[in-house]
Amino acid sequence: MNYQSTRNKSLSESASAVILKGLSSEGGLFVPEYAPKLTAEEIAAFAKMTYADAAFQVLTLFLSDYTAEELRLAADNAYGGNFSVDTISNLVKTNDGVHILELWRGPTAAFKDMALQLLPYLLTGAAKKQGGEPTTAILTATSGDTGKAALEGFKDMPNTKIMVFYPENGVSDMQKLQMQTQEGGNVAVVAVRGNFDDCQNAVKAIFADRDLEKELSNAGVRLSSANSINWGRLAPQIVYYVKAYADLLKSGDIKPNGKVNFCVPTGNFGNILAAYYARLLGVPVNKLICASNRNNVLTEFINSGTYDRKREFFATASPSMDILISSNLERLLYLLSDNNDEIISKWFTSLKENGNFTVTAEVKAKLDELFYGGFVDDDGTKLIIKEVFDRYSYLLDTHTAVAYGVYKKYVEQTGDVTPTVITSTANPYKFTHSVYSALKGAEPTTDEFAAAEEIERMTGTVMPTRLKETRSKERRFTDVADKEKLADKVREFLL
Ligand SMILES: *Cc1c(COP(=O)(O)O)cnc(C)c1O
Repeated sequence: MNYQSTRNKSLSESASAVILKGLSSEGGLFVPEYAPKLTAEEIAAFAKMTYADAAFQVLTLFLSDYTAEELRLAADNAYGGNFSVDTISNLVKTNDGVHILELWRGPTAAFKDMALQLLPYLLTGAAKKQGGEPTTAILTATSGDTGKAALEGFKDMPNTKIMVFYPENGVSDMQKLQMQTQEGGNVAVVAVRGNFDDCQNAVKAIFADRDLEKELSNAGVRLSSANSINWGRLAPQIVYYVKAYADLLKSGDIKPNGKVNFCVPTGNFGNILAAYYARLLGVPVNKLICASNRNNVLTEFINSGTYDRKREFFATASPSMDILISSNLERLLYLLSDNNDEIISKWFTSLKENGNFTVTAEVKAKLDELFYGGFVDDDGTKLIIKEVFDRYSYLLDTHTAVAYGVYKKYVEQTGDVTPTVITSTANPYKFTHSVYSALKGAEPTTDEFAAAEEIERMTGTVMPTRLKETRSKERRFTDVADKEKLADKVREFLL
């Protein structure tokens, strides 16, 4: 199986080449040349597998230039004792019949771990296959969850270094503490005076800096990225959708050949795109429900067929979804337009230059058939957290609460009774401040940890140990830099 670019389908690259490159040179995203298929029996068999086995099965379908041994080792190393539950992805049924797929049982308490515990193995494997510089250096700009998950995934990996940039005032207190206390001999973290876009633009400029590239290459270093446009992050996310469906068949919550809805709190469109790939593999999906916060560019797109990024940006209580350019949407539109690379180039050039594009009636009709888009603002999010806790004693984080709220709207509007899985993307204690104020109706006046203890008392839930431990750990990384100075930081770290 090879990969083509959404903006030039005559390209054909191996899985390891696209994982090492991340983005195609003309700006397109890599997609598999065809969709592999699983039979109903093969899908049902996922219920009997461990998570690592399930991951091995799916990865084998997509990453054909890796050996079985390589993928086996990667899956076994990625999904084991580093997660707090044996199931790895944890399916919970609330009393109202909704299934919540907890994807945050990994080391950093956000769903990014599902892919970033595995990606380092795929990337070091790819570097070996592709040859070139002996050291791979990962540069990542983060709005909070990706940075920490990437640091944990890559820490002390041989022949690898990782440097993360985050906006000084753009992440939650817990997210900041998690990154400042990061362990490992090959890691660096820098806070940036600016917002997430400043961090992202600085990283892009560093990748485009040919002089720096030469200096690094002379020192035996190649740059690579761990962000969610990399196929190596997408492929591992398909696994939990297939597994969840199989588990619901086994428990009888879905009858044989019955359909499922997936409702996903969405930012960069990676997670929901993985659900779409699960459908292509053969999982009988009825609707994909795309949930947004007040930055509802996707809701509008799904409802109108026009994507318009020229709008006000809001900092919300679900910061990991505060995004106006959902990069992975490009992959979906490529597939829905029957691999029309010309039209995709046109739309995404227009998005860059004019700030918008409108899809054809054919593509809009396909979107309508499969997708539902909705959004919930911060007040609505907090109401949902309180209501779901009061009714079902289940504590949602802010991102999952957005999804829950959108699902409720969907059911009200459609009356659809198809069994539904809501993907839960973070542990509530990563967003203590907002969860506290949702439950108490007032902002906490104490610090993060005292507020967390109060939530523990109120709800009988416990803050994950790894988050608790950040309180007493050494703050190794307190460096704050101007956005113009990040290339210097890279040189200091890598040369
Ligand atoms: C990254 C993230 C999301 C958004 O996921 P995408 O794949 O970017 O759509 C949602 N919730 C949390 C907690 C996240 O960290």
